[in-house]
This record gives sequence, structure tokens and C-alpha cells, in this order.
Amino acid sequence: MELLLNLISEYLEYILFGGMVFVSFHFITRKQKQQKFARKILDKTIKSGMNEPLTLHPEINSSLCGGCASCTKVCPEGDILRMINHKAVLVNPTKCVGHGECERACPYGAIDLVFGTKTRGVDIPRVSSDYETNVPGLYIAGELGGMGLIRNAIKQGNLAASHAIKNLKDGQADVDLLIVGAGPGGIACGLTAITKKVSYKVLEQNSMGGTVYNFPRQKVVMTHPAELPGFGLMKFSRNKVSKEELLEYWTAVRKKSGLKVSEGVKFDNLEKKGDVFYVETSKGTIKAKKVILCMGVRGSPRKLGLPNEDTSKVAYNLVDPEQYQSQHIAVVGGGNAGVEAAQMLANPKYGNKVKLLVRGDQLDRCNDENKAIIFDMEKKGQVEIKWNTVVSEIHPEKLILETDGKKLEVPNHYLFVFAGAIMPHKFLMSLGIEIDKSFGDRKMKSA
Ligand SMILES: Cc1cc2nc3c(=O)[nH]c(=O)nc-3n(C[C@H](O)[C@H](O)[C@H](O)COP(=O)(O)OP(=O)(O)OC[C@H]3O[C@@H](n4cnc5c(N)ncnc54)[C@H](O)[C@@H]3O)c2cc1C
Repeated sequence: MELLLNLISEYLEYILFGGMVFVSFHFITRKQKQQKFARKILDKTIKSGMNEPLTLHPEINSSLCGGCASCTKVCPEGDILRMINHKAVLVNPTKCVGHGECERACPYGAIDLVFGTKTRGVDIPRVSSDYETNVPGLYIAGELGGMGLIRNAIKQGNLAASHAIKNLKDGQADVDLLIVGAGPGGIACGLTAITKKVSYKVLEQNSMGGTVYNFPRQKVVMTHPAELPGFGLMKFSRNKVSKEELLEYWTAVRKKSGLKVSEGVKFDNLEKKGDVFYVETSKGTIKAKKVILCMGVRGSPRKLGLPNEDTSKVAYNLVDPEQYQSQHIAVVGGGNAGVEAAQMLANPKYGNKVKLLVRGDQLDRCNDENKAIIFDMEKKGQVEIKWNTVVSEIHPEKLILETDGKKLEVPNHYLFVFAGAIMPHKFLMSLGIEIDKSFGDRKMKSA
């Protein structure tokens, strides 16, 4: 024992040096492996033409990036940013939904959230920092303004309503504030109106809740609590909440605050005469001093453009999967919405036969968690994924698919299409709102 201790003390320097070499070597090879993997993801993204972000995304100033990799660890959507040559790189741009966690995590201020890129412009309605459009008294808040996420819609709804209320003038109108849409943005506007004690009306063409309720989403990600006017922080115990939890929360808020929402009323048009807006709705005209549009972007789903698409077997949202049992169902769309709809409909308790139809050969627009779930379901035979497949004909009891150029007839009772939405910019322009094209030059701060 004594001999061993003597030997160790004699060679301690060498032992320490050897240990350091081993640790450094291990660290370097691990970093090299990670870089190689990041490059592989980026190459794949470029090859598949998915290298242009769809909307708000981080722009990395590589001369400011200090290579700490903090940004790569915080994204709730998974593998979107990675380190290549000690710099952060957006390796999966189409998966980004603009949470902005990376921007907040960067200690060097090297990340900005921007709309569009130098090569791909994105149309954004022109609004001031108070969300007022170029038409005085007409506001846009929430996702219609280009920025997704529930907490952004809540924050913008509150700011827009507060500004509108501050600038109310005397005059004759039915209401001070007319709010279109009862998603998170519209709910926040309504609550602001209640807290500031002004008259308001919230119009909702469907029912209160907005996109989160009309979309097949099992879990909603809320990375930071949003502040609801008059209610404080909207806190949940986890950063993922179920649709049911959110609905319950908002129903309680509605009850406690007395928030009134006119459901089943559609906003059609408006005209400004003097300082008053004449707002045309499916239930008649309402005169309002200020109008806030919180209509989201999913009013006009992108359709397939096929004969028979307007029949009741085709739908563009999924509210209640329980309605569909022992049916042949096809779901179009390899993004999160399509994949989550397929997951819900293919739940074995419903006994459906579900096919997920994907135009390409991978799920490029879907997050890692959803991918893992759907591949596992496929392995268990609960869902069939058909790659390189489009629908070419819709019939009452069947579909004709085109798979790898070959026609294929499959039995079908219901077809769900999740191919995105057509932005209502033409409609906004018809109201006099100006639309700008942003080529990465418009910076935003997420809430
Ligand atoms: C599949 C999917 C998953 C998502 N997951 C998340 C997530 O995990 N976390 C997160 O923070 N965000 C998520 N989002 C984004 C989030 O849902 C939206 O950003 C948010 O709902 C926007 O709120 P909003 O109030 O602006 O609009 P919306 O929620 O879209 O509400 C708009 C409302 O306006 C109504 N409306 C539209 N036109 C009219 C009209 N003419 N007349 C009357 N009413 C009208 C609509 O019916 C709708 O109820 C997801 C979105 C999708 C599609």
C-alpha cells in the first residue's frame, strides 16, 4: 500500500496530465460528433428545400455569437438551433414557431426575432407599437398581425385595447370597443374593456376559445405565463397544458369577470364614417368607436381544390375526435396539426382505420415529440403513413390517391385536410389596411 502511494505521489503530475488529456479528448470528440450531426441536419434541410422559415424566427448575428450554445438548449420545439463551427445555426427553420426562448437565452444579444428573410418576404399588416393600423381607430392584435402563440395574442390584445380606450372620444355609437374574435387575443381585449369600464362587444363566428379549440392539439405549450387583464398571471403547474385545462381556465375567467361573447356572429365588413365604424355582421350593423381585429389566420383553410371537396365528409379542423368511431379516415398533412389529428383519430379506443397522407418522404414540419408518437403508433399498426401521397379524387365512400405516381383506391368515410391557411390579407386591404413585405428587416420582441 505504501509503495502504491509512493508511486502515485511520484507520478501524480503525469497522472493528472493524462487525465486532462483524456477529458479534453473526450470533450473534443463529443463536440465534433455533435457538429457532424448538426451539419447532417442542415444538409438534409437544404436538400429538401425546407431552409426558409415560414414566419417569425431567430436571426443569428454570427459576429456577436459567443458559441455558448445556450440558445440550442431552450427551444420547446426541439432540434431547431444547433452549433456549427462554434456558432448557432438555424438548422430546422420551418419548425420554428417563434417562441423566442433563444433570443432571451442568448447572453451576447446575438439573436433577433424577425419576419421573413432576404430571399423570402413575408406579408405583415402595418401596425404601430400600439397595434393600431394605418386606419385610425382600427387595430390588429394576435396572430393576424403575424406573431403566433397564445401569450403574444394576450399581450397584444391588452396593449391594443388599452391604447384604444385611452384615445376614446365622445360621440354617438352602440359600443366603445368592438372586438372581432374570441381567441386569446379577443379575450384579453374584452377583459381590458371590463377592467377599464368601457362598453364593448366581442363577436365570435364559432365559439369562444379560438384556434386552440378548433385544432387537434393535445397539449398546448406555454413557456411563460401570460398576464390576463384583471386576473394576473395565467399560471399552470407545467409548461404544457391540455386543451381541456385551458378551456376550463377560460370558462372560469369568463364566469368570474362576466365577459360577454356574442357567439355565432360573423364580422363581414366595416366602413368608417367620421369617427365611427359601421361594422357589418351576420346579425346586423353595429356602430363602434374603435375596432380591434383578433381574427387569427385560420378563417380560410387552404383547400385541395378537388371536385366533391365541399361535401360534409371533408373537414379542415378536428374539434371532437370521439365523433368518429369505426370509420375509414384519411388525414392530409405532415405538420403538427395533421400528425396530431391522426394520433387522436387513430386512438385504438375509437376503432378507426386511419391513413396519414404525406406529400413528401418525411415529416419536415412536425416536432420531434409528435414524430416519435406517430412512428410508434405506426409500428403498433394503429396508423398507416403513406409517403409521397396526394389525394386525386374524392368520392362518397372512397378516395383515389396518387402514391409515387401510381393511382390507388382506398375506402374512406372522412377526409381531414391540414394544409395551412390562406392569410386574409386581401380582406384586410379591402378594409383600407396597408400590408408591408418584410425581408427579415422587421424585428419583434416576443412576450
Ligand atoms: C396546430 C397548432 C398548434 C398550436 N400550438 C400552440 C402552442 O402549443 N402554444 C401556443 O402558445 N400557441 C400555439 N398555437 C398558436 C395559437 O393557437 C395562436 O397563436 C393563438 O391562438 C392566436 O390567438 P388569436 O386570438 O390571435 O387568434 P385565434 O386563436 O386564431 O382566434 C381567432 C378567433 O377569431 C374568430 N374569427 C375569425 N374570423 C372571424 C370573423 N369574420 N367573425 C367573427 N369571428 C371570427 C375565429 O373563429 C377564432 O375563434 C398553435 C396553433 C396551431 C394551429
